[in-house]
Amino acid sequence: MAKVANPIGEVKNALSIMISLPTNTQNMINLVFFGKPGAGKGTQAAIIKEKFNLVHLSTGDLFRYNMKNDTPLGQLAKSYIDAGNLVPDQVTIDMLEDAVLKNKDAKGFIFDGFPRTDAQAEALDALMARLEMKIDATIALEAEDDILVERLLNRGLTSGRSDDQDEAKIRNRFDEYTAKTAPLRAFYSNQEKFHEILGVGSVEEITERILAVIKTL
Ligand code: AMP
Repeated sequence: MAKVANPIGEVKNALSIMISLPTNTQNMINLVFFGKPGAGKGTQAAIIKEKFNLVHLSTGDLFRYNMKNDTPLGQLAKSYIDAGNLVPDQVTIDMLEDAVLKNKDAKGFIFDGFPRTDAQAEALDALMARLEMKIDATIALEAEDDILVERLLNRGLTSGRSDDQDEAKIRNRFDEYTAKTAPLRAFYSNQEKFHEILGVGSVEEITERILAVIKTL
């Protein structure tokens, strides 16, 4: 009979295969990208997503997709987005949960532009707990308002986004951020998950800063 070098290890391996753990949750990386409009969350998420094979969920992109396709959700969100205001929490939370559940086999997620309020952060933690997942880190990209306004107005020239073309709307988005989103710094700091990096420099330099944070996880 063939000798087994490590019989206890073999039994453990067999058991871990038999006990069906929820898909992948043990080795997932789940990141929140945090920062004001124009901070570079979308640009960096697109790069980091490729490196780690993650699903990039941008609530802004999801709303724009719904507006483009004129769905009931898009119609509801439009007036808020056009004015640079946040879409109501429950609408946003339901949309995000739906998107996560549609990607249950993901190796992990980058949440970009979500959460933006206390209620959203609580809902995200509750969803993660329900799915036996967790947020590993919140990475905040920091840059000064004037730099961000310039970036957004530039983006507005080609993106066609009405909320990027008008400085008053852009400033209103910053005000929404300061009032409702910035307090989440404390929420994630209390969980020792908040990592702030400088969001100014070349795209590559900023990616390196994010990778340096991910290495510590
Ligand atoms: P963004 O593409 O992240 O800049 O989002 C564009 C707009 O979509 C925001 O100004 C809000 O009107 C809306 N939006 C995106 N994400 C959220 C969110 N998490 N909560 C509420 N509104 C959101």
